[in-house]
Amino acid sequence: MRQTISTIAFIGLGVMGYPMAGHLARAGFNVRVYNRTTDKAIHWAKEFEGSHHLTPREAAEGADLVLICVGNDDDVRQVTTCPNGALHGMSKDSLLIDHTTASGELAKALDSACREHSVGFLDAPVSGGQQGAENGALTIMCGGDDNDFRRAEPVLQHYARAVTLMGPAGSGQLTKMVNQICIGGLIQALSEGLHFAELAELDQQRVIDVISQGAAGSWQMENRHSTMIADSYDHGFAVDWMRKDLGICLEQARKLGASLPITALVDQFYADIQAMGGGRWDTSSLRKRLTP
Ligand code: NAP
Repeated sequence: MRQTISTIAFIGLGVMGYPMAGHLARAGFNVRVYNRTTDKAIHWAKEFEGSHHLTPREAAEGADLVLICVGNDDDVRQVTTCPNGALHGMSKDSLLIDHTTASGELAKALDSACREHSVGFLDAPVSGGQQGAENGALTIMCGGDDNDFRRAEPVLQHYARAVTLMGPAGSGQLTKMVNQICIGGLIQALSEGLHFAELAELDQQRVIDVISQGAAGSWQMENRHSTMIADSYDHGFAVDWMRKDLGICLEQARKLGASLPITALVDQFYADIQAMGGGRWDTSSLRKRLTP
């Protein structure tokens, strides 16, 4: 098994992947990038002095570790197991880590595909948003084998403030689902509270100043209340992505027999936001749905 990681391929230079790959280049790794829209990869390679490649397979050649951060399950399949996918360029005993928020089923399938190629695998979705990626302060929830985790952890620390192995392949994605289930209901409750305060002609800022100190306080309240009061929804994680994530949660819940009535309702509220043209608004736009 390779223990030293010096060459890393990074596939997917979006809002999250671009700065994450940047942290690794700054830390001194030899970083090879691929992005579907080549201009972004060229721009990244100029900014961070890495190399850019025309297919995931080419980027993965010679890499000790391949990191992926694309959109959804289908996108991950396209950049890994398809003919020009990274897995076909990876050497024996290298490691593949998927940071995409995707399904637990995909994680298990990728784990098996990697084993057939004698490649290690971790599913490792993140939370912390664009700000967390840029500041190197993400929370990373991993699923996979303990040895692979120990090999990966020092690398992931370059853009994380917490990296945790949750269990076998798929456990990282299941943990991220819990994260999204918890967030959806919280944002709706915060939206309803602000909506109520406005109609009651209370000073919304003063209300939050008081109640955030007590049991109603949350990350969403602390970080999103002022932009929600200002009716501004351009602050991170997009509604389109949230619907993708809630869809994954609801599908998994069906398989588990779990009851998620609030999650299902909030998912429909986000569908309303999409119908209002807000697919790219951030998730706190549930507030706007109450007073369009
Ligand atoms: P993004 O800005 O839309 O970037 C997506 C990246 O994936 C782009 O580089 C895109 O390439 C690439 N891509 C998409 N489909 C592809 C395909 N079929 N083949 C090859 N490349 C493809 O998204 P993001 O915000 O970085 O999010 C990435 C993942 O992290 C998602 O799963 C998201 O749910 C998750 N996440 C996001 C946040 C957040 O706050 N943004 C927070 C936590 C988790 P192009 O440049 O060509 O479009």
